[in-house]
Amino acid sequence: MEKRNQIYEGKAKRVYETEDPELLIVSYKDDATAFNGLKKGSIAGKGVINNQMSNRLMAKLAPYGVPNHFVQELSERETLVRRVNIVPLEVIVRNIAAGSFSKRYGVEEGVVFSQPTVEYSYKNDDLGDPLLNTSHALALGLATEEEIATIRRYALMVNTFLKDFWHSCGVILVDFKLEFGRTGSGEIILADEISPDTCRLWDEKTHEKLDKDRFRRDMGGVEQAYQEIMQRLLEHI
Ligand code: UDP
Repeated sequence: MEKRNQIYEGKAKRVYETEDPELLIVSYKDDATAFNGLKKGSIAGKGVINNQMSNRLMAKLAPYGVPNHFVQELSERETLVRRVNIVPLEVIVRNIAAGSFSKRYGVEEGVVFSQPTVEYSYKNDDLGDPLLNTSHALALGLATEEEIATIRRYALMVNTFLKDFWHSCGVILVDFKLEFGRTGSGEIILADEISPDTCRLWDEKTHEKLDKDRFRRDMGGVEQAYQEIMQRLLEHI
């Protein structure tokens, strides 16, 4: 399968059409942004790691019962995926307080929840991805009630799967962001990526951050952290 015209370029990926109208090719870049694009940089090798990590996790999630867009890895940075219309919701699942949750609710980073939280943001850069609830999403016509129920169920399944998997790697899954899409036939499937760009991952023993927070917070050792988390994944998948 070969790339035809580029239909989209985002912060971390380019998307191309193929000869099959139902399939796209995603190409992962090393570019990194944070704070709604205010901070820009590059993380050497990130595109390769995010592509390969996301594909391996999605390949496991399908038989687990979470249908997703992954079809076939084409190269280090490129993957064939099912074409979907992205539901403009960022779906965030949290097991431990961090980031915007800690800030918004005044809870120290690291506080463990008795059960996971699920929250939605309206995927709209001009508005700064505002937090919204189900009734807001319905009022805005972003998804139907049934679709939101499906998305929530899948998001919690992904959490259960990922929490167990990362635990087997000696890693704590703090939180993560998912995006879902609709196929041509209207089926809701998991899309986008699952990577250190979109998850908070801490070493179980030291609580060392092995994710994009090292870039966001100028902590250094960003490339090494991405390599370390990929190494752990490859040893246990
Ligand atoms: N996240 C993401 N993209 C976004 C916002 C958040 O992938 O545009 C991920 C982030 O990496 C973290 C989780 O979603 O794993 C929760 O992020 P949070 O709401 O705490 O926002 P942040 O502090 O990253 O701005």
